[in-house]
Amino acid sequence: MNFSDFALDKTLTDAVKSLGYSSPTPIQQQAIPAILAKKDIMAGAQTGTGKTAAFALPILQILSENVPEHRPVRALVLTPTRELAQQVYKSFVGYAENTSLNIAVAYGGVSINPQVDALNKGADVLVATPGRLLDHLIKGSLALTELECIVFDEADRMLDLGFKDEIDRILNRLPITRQTLLFSATFDDAIYTLSKHLLTDPLRIEI
Ligand code: AMP
Repeated sequence: MNFSDFALDKTLTDAVKSLGYSSPTPIQQQAIPAILAKKDIMAGAQTGTGKTAAFALPILQILSENVPEHRPVRALVLTPTRELAQQVYKSFVGYAENTSLNIAVAYGGVSINPQVDALNKGADVLVATPGRLLDHLIKGSLALTELECIVFDEADRMLDLGFKDEIDRILNRLPITRQTLLFSATFDDAIYTLSKHLLTDPLRIEI
């Protein structure tokens, strides 16, 4: 299988080619067509499997098909830690290099003002940790009323780190009709409870 087998624009397949990816990994083979078809997903995947490109490429494809002039955040990736937020942000920037889409990142422990400036310029995708995301929502530097897709990356670690309350408060501010993608290395009762609450008829992917 090849990246050109997916309904992805050449700008995206060229970007992965220039990163040296020759063929999609198993999670990418399953997740990319399903996400392009706007399905919810619940995927068991560890770091190192290529899970970031599995959600980033179809999200960038969907968003680039229709870019509104006012550039609201239309895709949100929640990560448990600032390190993962930085890593996912860098991956998105690489894949989006030849598109017109803007990617922003927001995490705690650093000044909020440059993040506010980046959001004001218009971000199509925001990668964020839950606490700082809530700060932006409360401050009014961000609205998620036009969100089309939310990704929970390493959802198990998010729960382990005690972000359940933050997640619930964020969910209250999201449109009900949206695509939800949940990635987790492990699955226990807490993740199943969260996924039941979050996902509609999800495709389950185990690799
Ligand atoms: P991730 O699991 O998303 O953290 O990705 C792990 C590493 O695999 C990253 O360095 C990616 O750049 C790389 N990667 C992702 N997809 C592919 C692919 N299809 N072929 C080769 N490397 C890849």
